[in-house]
Amino acid sequence: MALENHVLNPAEDPEEASDPRTMYPSGEFEPQTQDYPGWTEAMIPRPDHGEQSYVGHHRMMGFRTLITGGDSGIGRAVAIAFAREGADVAFTYLPEEEQDAELTVQLIEAAGSRALALPGDLRDEEFCQEVIAQTIEEFDGLNVLVNNAGFQMTTSQGIEDLSSEQFDRTFKSNVYALFWLTKAALPHLQPGSSIINTSSIQGYHPSPSLIDYAATKAAINSMTFSLAESLGSKGIRVNAVAPGPIWTPLQPPTQPEEKIVKFGQDTPLGRAGQPAELAATYVLLATEESSYISGSVIGVTGGKHLA
Ligand code: NAD
Ligand code: MG
Repeated sequence: MALENHVLNPAEDPEEASDPRTMYPSGEFEPQTQDYPGWTEAMIPRPDHGEQSYVGHHRMMGFRTLITGGDSGIGRAVAIAFAREGADVAFTYLPEEEQDAELTVQLIEAAGSRALALPGDLRDEEFCQEVIAQTIEEFDGLNVLVNNAGFQMTTSQGIEDLSSEQFDRTFKSNVYALFWLTKAALPHLQPGSSIINTSSIQGYHPSPSLIDYAATKAAINSMTFSLAESLGSKGIRVNAVAPGPIWTPLQPPTQPEEKIVKFGQDTPLGRAGQPAELAATYVLLATEESSYISGSVIGVTGGKHLA
């Protein structure tokens, strides 16, 4: 597979490329849908994960990292950045995402780092424990845990068509997995380690069509704060990144087509963000450049405010 065929590149014109409104396409997206969980290959246009643009500066040499949901979207962009900064990268994905996972492995290895791909369902506590055990065994330790995997599904009638099954799925995927993974990782985390959770602007401004999802993101914020308080004395920092609308395979299978067409246009910058635009924030939070940042949620929202 030719990597260059897989990316949406930032604008080439220097003026457009330096303007945050125009560095990526800002018009309407083509109507499109996909079955859940969604695949990168089927997206029009394909997202930019920094394949052509992310330049590492040896900031994570010798780091051993684990990213949940690293096959695609934000997780893939973080995997590329961590690998190009010198880190080994383990990542989880759902078994049906094998195609995306294979390309992420190629991208990590192309950076000269070790890749460990771990298929399975994070709603299972045993799988979460396995993931940590296998990462520790393969890499002989763990410095950075990125709890990034997440599930959402729009309900058009709000709570009226929100099933107990979906409510349970969303909380298991987004909150329980974070709890299980963090608990299993903790005995292995040395001072200087970092935990980074992926929250959402939904944790602050919940949409009526994403009641369950938004509640999990508020819970993730709360756990970020309480874990930062409790793990500070061990020298472990805990932070979260709260993205706004980002062009990833999570969106077409879980939002109505009319929302996909206008996705991101209601932000002050007037467009959806690309996964590549998130990576630097995760690198910052993973490294000692952020040595005094803990218990923070950093928004990457295209101008919409948190709080
Ligand atoms: P994505 O679909 O590329 O990544 C999400 C990943 O989560 C999937 O690839 C899948 O591997 C994983 N996952 C979901 N349920 C799982 C389960 N039960 N077991 C194992 N893995 C599971 O989409 P993304 O947008 O990059 O999502 C990454 C994170 O960013 C999620 O937490 C999401 O909530 C958050 N986020 C995304 C946006 C956005 O607009 N795309 C906005 C705010 C927050
Ligand atoms: Mg995926």
